[in-house]
Amino acid sequence: MKIARFSAGSGPRVGLVEGDAIVDVGAISALDVAMGAPITRGSVHAIDDIRLLCPAAPLTRNAFCVGWNYLRHFDETQPRRDAAVTEPPARPTFFTKATRAVIGPRDPIEGHASLTAMLDWEAELGLVIGRAGRDIAEAEALGHVAGFLVALDVTARDITRAHGGQWFRGKSLDHTAPVGPWLVTPDELGELGGRSITCRVNGEVVQSAMLGDMHFTVGRIIAELSAGLSLEVGDVILTGTPEGTGVAREPARFLAVGDIVEARIDGIGEVRSEVVASYPSLVDTPDIFDYVHRSSAAGGSPA
Ligand code: MG
Repeated sequence: MKIARFSAGSGPRVGLVEGDAIVDVGAISALDVAMGAPITRGSVHAIDDIRLLCPAAPLTRNAFCVGWNYLRHFDETQPRRDAAVTEPPARPTFFTKATRAVIGPRDPIEGHASLTAMLDWEAELGLVIGRAGRDIAEAEALGHVAGFLVALDVTARDITRAHGGQWFRGKSLDHTAPVGPWLVTPDELGELGGRSITCRVNGEVVQSAMLGDMHFTVGRIIAELSAGLSLEVGDVILTGTPEGTGVAREPARFLAVGDIVEARIDGIGEVRSEVVASYPSLVDTPDIFDYVHRSSAAGGSPA
């Protein structure tokens, strides 16, 4: 199944994606649908007529992320890496991303130009946990996954550097990590290795790899992460980016207001976001998802 969260002019709904249409199955949990809850098919909408919402919302805690999970990306980070790190990791490297960084698949990326001049793209395979667990065996891992999605782990390289080289701060700016466009259940997606992952900036391909290039499999990542650490329903995990990041290019290249960033994984779909100067004040809308929903209801746009 492909399961979308969307708005057709009122509150968030969940629907099954079938071709160019979405079949409304109610104001229920996308994760429950993914894990097999009974559904009733309702009205049908053309995807072009609805607003796609973040399929992982609401995030109740930070997204888990993996660093250095494609060896050619590990290699391209060599000039900027801690000199002590000379070998690819023997076990996955983890960090987290603050909840409010995560946005829907068509929501704009906030540029934060007063804080960063080095906003970079990182296309990644993401997943959402649908069944909680701890000490999950590698062979059992996919049974805990509600669905896969495409993610952009947009990173402010200069902020990361300015704060001790730790990744958290530069990867947690508000409204910088589009995910979606929907959840694709593991049985629907099948074998991951033969799926391509690409990133385009203003139509130009900047990253192109295969999911089979991942150094650590999804099963290994979940097994390592869940060892002594409970994974909860709704937890989001991003699995790392391949080579082709902007900071590693000659010359280096970063995102600017007006750029269009698209990340695509064969078999899942695409997130597509424009970089904008700012979001409106969230004073009256303390939750971005509330904000997106209210905007949709009012026919407005968060840009
Ligand atoms: Mg990343």
